[in-house]
Amino acid sequence: MTASRTIVIAGAGIGGLTAALAIAARGFRVTILEKAERLEEVGAGLQLSPNASRVLVGLGLAPQLAAHVVTPETVSIMTARSGGEVMRLSLAGSARPDAPYWLVHRADLQGALLAAVQSHPGIDLHLASPVQAMEDATDAVRVGDRHAAALIGADGAWSAVRGIAFPAIQPRFSGLIAWRGTCDAASLPPELRPSGVQLWMGPRAHLVIYPMSAGQRINLVAILPGAPLAPGWSEPGAADEIGRHFAAAHWPGNTRAMIAAVGNWRRWPLFTMPDGGAWHSGRVALLGDAAHAMLPFAAQGAGMAIEDAAVLAQCLGAADEDRDIPAALARYAALRAPRATRVQRTARQQGQIYHLQGPIAFARDTAMRLLGPIRLQARQDWIYNWTP
Ligand SMILES: Cc1cc2nc3c(=O)[nH]c(=O)nc-3n(C[C@H](O)[C@H](O)[C@H](O)COP(=O)(O)OP(=O)(O)OC[C@H]3O[C@@H](n4cnc5c(N)ncnc54)[C@H](O)[C@@H]3O)c2cc1C
Repeated sequence: MTASRTIVIAGAGIGGLTAALAIAARGFRVTILEKAERLEEVGAGLQLSPNASRVLVGLGLAPQLAAHVVTPETVSIMTARSGGEVMRLSLAGSARPDAPYWLVHRADLQGALLAAVQSHPGIDLHLASPVQAMEDATDAVRVGDRHAAALIGADGAWSAVRGIAFPAIQPRFSGLIAWRGTCDAASLPPELRPSGVQLWMGPRAHLVIYPMSAGQRINLVAILPGAPLAPGWSEPGAADEIGRHFAAAHWPGNTRAMIAAVGNWRRWPLFTMPDGGAWHSGRVALLGDAAHAMLPFAAQGAGMAIEDAAVLAQCLGAADEDRDIPAALARYAALRAPRATRVQRTARQQGQIYHLQGPIAFARDTAMRLLGPIRLQARQDWIYNWTP
């Protein structure tokens, strides 16, 4: 392999930055082209399960993240039906020091990745540089005036790279809105401050609450039916609208108190990519949400982007010659697509289970109790035990 081989990555989100570090670690030069003028604080909390954290630890990011993350011990599954806990899952069995379960603000994760990218001599990051056109030739891919061995579209659910390479594949609206907000942990009464992850299942809706930012902040995500107000990734949400939803008698008072503690809400219309879409063509490949935007109900969208990055780097690293790159991208897609599709489907099914109502919700809670925490937790093993 020649050191001059360059990979261009469109997008400096979690997927693009992780891919840059993983690919540069294999001796490639990497150029990241990011549309935004600044990498701002977009999004809110992320759960990173061991399959994803293992990759980040392997890239040497644990020390930078240590000051920001929370390592929860449990996931409490709560039911709005009775206001109580259906089950408490222990994360102790699945998490390890080299593969912890982390709760982290997306901005802190992006900041740690960005610092590593900026101090890496083999990576150039260009902000305010949207990828708008490309030409995939046999010997190289041309992106503006740049020639590269490959172009990786890590440019999110509304990917321009996908739009050029596979114009027929478009994200679809799920009919659901994620309301995201945060509050100071100190603003909640002690009995309402979660130490781990809380998942509240309710009729046609659910609520996820957990601490992040070293326990200083609480992240809240409420999933409700709704329609997008405007095109785009996220939009401001009116506190009285979400307050009205949780005022319904079937939501217990403690969920209402937590909802009321959030000052600023943002609405995220949930768009997903169809299962099994195209991932690569010639010297172009997609990664992360650009390939497989999914419902967030398995908490794996960023996790899958991070896994993609590790596998892509392995496949590119195994390509001895420049002419082997298209085959390396084909191998990457073949390795990743079945797993990402399975996670997409799992996320969809979990949403359907969380949103049951009436007697079926009672049957769900009873079935979960009968199954027990160990067997319920073991259902995540195929996700969490993944290694690159
Ligand atoms: C409510 C909610 C909760 C979630 N919770 C979790 C969770 O707990 N755990 C988890 O793992 N995941 C979670 N996710 C999913 C996760 O946020 C996404 O899957 C992840 O951020 C996708 O990363 P990405 O790098 O693929 O794309 P993005 O984060 O979308 O990054 C794409 C980047 O590309 C840039 N870009 C766009 N167009 C261009 C262009 N033409 N040229 C150059 N750059 C461009 C954008 O500016 C952006 O910086 C959640 C999502 C939501 C909505």
